[in-house]
Amino acid sequence: MIVTEEVRKSILTRVTGYLKKVSSHSLNPYVGCGFGRSSCGVPCYVQHNYWLTKGRDWGTFVDVKLEADSLYQQNYKRESMWARREGGKFSIFFSSSTDPWQPLEKKYRISRSLLLAMIELPPDKIILQTHTADILEDKETIIKLAERTLVKVHISLEGDRETLPGLPSPPCSIDRRIEALSIFSKMGIETVACLSPLYPLKDPEKFFSRLALAGVSGVIIDHFIEGDGTREGSRTLKTTLPEIMRKIDASSVDLLYRDKIVKIARRFLPVGISAEGFSGNRKDVLP
Ligand code: SF4
Repeated sequence: MIVTEEVRKSILTRVTGYLKKVSSHSLNPYVGCGFGRSSCGVPCYVQHNYWLTKGRDWGTFVDVKLEADSLYQQNYKRESMWARREGGKFSIFFSSSTDPWQPLEKKYRISRSLLLAMIELPPDKIILQTHTADILEDKETIIKLAERTLVKVHISLEGDRETLPGLPSPPCSIDRRIEALSIFSKMGIETVACLSPLYPLKDPEKFFSRLALAGVSGVIIDHFIEGDGTREGSRTLKTTLPEIMRKIDASSVDLLYRDKIVKIARRFLPVGISAEGFSGNRKDVLP
């Protein structure tokens, strides 16, 4: 892993594309991801973004954005005014192209410093998106932030299998991730389980019932087809994931599989689909 420390000129990115439905800005405390060599890194949509990777192999590098909290304070007025002038709210997706609670966070605490800065200068809304229960290390800070603004905790959880044969191990066990969802839900924070990208499920009824019991507000179901930003899922088709999924359940590589799972999930919880789901719209009708 090549770790590079850098100080940037800005930290808040005005979003484009599908993220426009989700928030006004994204905020990435790191470039690259320390989970890039775990199971989620194999199909990770971000690895196809050459502008971010600059040709580096996914999971081999992390650029650490030092002084991110000071930059947030400096950028806050300009960017919050811009968002409101555009007719919306100043809302932050944290994070769109990295994991704020990846292993290096234990050393650098860039994400923590940003959350602390946001308690002083809160956005109108923030979505905390992660693959790991290590977000709980910032539980107290997140509770304080939730007193100042709308906080949603999104935890990625592709399915009910710890991993799929042929994939490396996951960044965090399913049990720990569901436990984190449950803890935040009990604290009154809106939580969402993100099945992104959706894996073939062993026992969907049991899985969604467990999530409902954990108190999650809803689930997002995002198949790699459409979910990876291409109509046919062509980015993901370049990775090993589709073949691995096919070996477990041949039907799971088809969009009809997503629709079948959505119907089951709706018996237990509100469901959002792909980008609409990330935007908080859980009343999608199936195409
Ligand atoms: S944690 Fe997120 S950003 Fe990091 S490799 Fe996994 S999917 Fe990609």
